[in-house]
Amino acid sequence: MVKKLDLRSDTASLPTEKMKKAMFNATLGDDILKEDPSVNELEELAASMLGMEAALFVISGTMANQIAVMTLTERGQEVILGPESHLYNLEVAGLAALSQVQVRPVKVENGCYDIDHVKEAIQEKGIQSATTGLICLENTYNLNEGSVVPLKNMAEIKEIADKHNIPVYLDGARLFNAAAYLGVKPSEVCQHVDAVQFCLTKGLGCPLGSILAGPKTFIEEAKRIRQRLGGGMRQAGVIAAPGIVGLTEMVDRIGEDHVTAAKLFNGLRTIPGIKPTANHFHTNIVSVEIDKDSWNADRFIEALKKYNILVKKVGSHRVRMVTHYHIRDEDINHVVQCIQTVME
Ligand SMILES: *Cc1c(COP(=O)(O)O)cnc(C)c1O
Repeated sequence: MVKKLDLRSDTASLPTEKMKKAMFNATLGDDILKEDPSVNELEELAASMLGMEAALFVISGTMANQIAVMTLTERGQEVILGPESHLYNLEVAGLAALSQVQVRPVKVENGCYDIDHVKEAIQEKGIQSATTGLICLENTYNLNEGSVVPLKNMAEIKEIADKHNIPVYLDGARLFNAAAYLGVKPSEVCQHVDAVQFCLTKGLGCPLGSILAGPKTFIEEAKRIRQRLGGGMRQAGVIAAPGIVGLTEMVDRIGEDHVTAAKLFNGLRTIPGIKPTANHFHTNIVSVEIDKDSWNADRFIEALKKYNILVKKVGSHRVRMVTHYHIRDEDINHVVQCIQTVME
């Protein structure tokens, strides 16, 4: 049988054998009472890797993001963020529905936040204006591009935010990809923000879960909000245990996914009818435009399915491909070859 190559997302990564064993053997307790040793170990490990005081294990990146905004803002405030961010586009308007805040998007280009635009977007209290309650960054930015936000850009935003006493939150779903690209420790990325979340389910290969981290007082309140949303868990060690494996064994290899993605990107560039959508390429996400008569994303996706290759539609003529640890170097040759055949 032909190996199935699922390039729709790095969330397609399945738990390793070691993760499954860790789930089976995990020591357990009641996490709401903070008595689950596996969850406690994961939270402590994550906090120390991020250089944060405390951490909280939550069920998804979306829940981590929403808890963060609920904890850090007041109803009727504004939140500054990038227009292509997950928080803005893919969380069922949670900012409006749960936190009751208004969104003020600022320009982001190639992963760089427009500093002048950020300055202009900050609202001072006035009889007709809302106040800015929070700045939300995303790194890597734009889930169809995986662009890395430079540390200097993050530092500049933090400086502006500090001047106005506004907290900065980082949606670091793919934080470890950003750190690998920049060649720095994850804590060096996190030093420019007050709070952060990362996903265990993407490049780290875990079956579920995200980590929210920040100051102790923030995490205490975040835990209450998690409870309010019904996200308090009992013997959550069964799902925290693979997270520990993810953090100890999968972080150092994440750069390999960038190498395979680069190889894919370069292979696709040579195929007529396939155009890269961005003029830059950073991490593990490759987006391309299907630019050929009578072809669109749907036709392309269907054609590749016959080869057991799955890619994701992100526009009428756009698809994205994401590498992860099931996608090996030799698989890339095969994918490029199949796409070449399909487009002939
Ligand atoms: C995947 C992702 C999330 C959400 O994570 P889930 O666990 O799928 O809810 C949030 N932000 C970004 C940037 C993501 O890529």
